[in-house]
Amino acid sequence: MAALARDFFMGTRLSSTEEREQALLAPYAMHSAQSAGREHPEPDHPYRGPFQRDRDRITHSAAYRRLSCKTQVFTGELGDYHRTRLTHTLEVASVARTIGRALALNEDLIEALALVHDLGHPPFGHAGEDLLDECLRDEGGFSHNAQALRIVRELETRYHDFPGLNLTREVLEGQATRIAHDTGQQRPLLETQVVEAADSITYDTHDADDALEFGLLALDELLTIDLWAEAAQRVRQRGAALEGGELRRAVLHELIDWQVSDLLDRASQRLAEGRFDSAQAVRQAELIIVASEDLAARKKDLEGFLRSRVYQHPSVLMHRREAQAALRAMFEAFVAQSELLPESFRRRSSVVGIRRSVGDYLAGMTDRFAWREYKRLFGNGVPGLETPKADI
Ligand code: MG
Repeated sequence: MAALARDFFMGTRLSSTEEREQALLAPYAMHSAQSAGREHPEPDHPYRGPFQRDRDRITHSAAYRRLSCKTQVFTGELGDYHRTRLTHTLEVASVARTIGRALALNEDLIEALALVHDLGHPPFGHAGEDLLDECLRDEGGFSHNAQALRIVRELETRYHDFPGLNLTREVLEGQATRIAHDTGQQRPLLETQVVEAADSITYDTHDADDALEFGLLALDELLTIDLWAEAAQRVRQRGAALEGGELRRAVLHELIDWQVSDLLDRASQRLAEGRFDSAQAVRQAELIIVASEDLAARKKDLEGFLRSRVYQHPSVLMHRREAQAALRAMFEAFVAQSELLPESFRRRSSVVGIRRSVGDYLAGMTDRFAWREYKRLFGNGVPGLETPKADI
């Protein structure tokens, strides 16, 4: 590799990814040098490690860019404050990297896993997912976790030499464990466990925040839930007499900090006790990155509350019904008239069948594109759906 100016930073030559990881990562972290490689073998890159390349491939993919116009929980019709799939994904990556750095894990791998974890979400959040699952019941169903794998292995078309993004086996396997959590013999890598935990920390916190912003919940109601009550108590103990928006923001910070600290306390203890000398050794042990029982119980309470009060809120349900009616109508129209599909999905239907190919096309859409496509197909609407979205 040609010498770069930064190679001489601090008077020493910059070491290779492998040497750097050897110096900085714990023995139980997943080291690049131990990667099982890619499905389609490729030469090493002169200065980027394998997981760094995975992360870069994901951030340059079309599926990743589309996350910015996909619903997390709330659609754009309620306002612009809320999280989208993209901002959720970035929050997960941020929390996961904090945990990973504190435990000396492989941050490149963590980031790649975080950025890929929600890539398979269809438009309209869980409403879209449930509807596609129903439409594809005889074809093995639809799940966003499995769809993410289909995207990175088959559907992305950025490279001449292979289909998909040709990610490392570690990233593919990490995503696959989201489909079948307990595959029996082996636990996921610590980096995968971290991303799973960060996802839960993130959505528990931000779904409540978004619901408050949209007025679907009141702060006083949330403060009756154990997790929020305790976090508010911690804020007050530090002497901060806050109310309203200030209290809400302080509680949100506290919630993330508390959950991350709780994970780190337990994980550090278990890692010290286990004396694991490799990433493989950790895979034979019980899960290590898990919340304490006390915190897990409080999180479960909050999730139950969010399910009944937010995810089932009449305005969320109304958007759900509209979105599902539109997706169902499009699904049936494309299956009946495959000439309406783009050329690449028509070709794909001869390999995977028309229903799966239509499912892949619909799942790749952003919310906005789905409404536009709906309007192109149906103009003034179909029975059961009052009006197509205007001016989208
Ligand atoms: Mg997620």
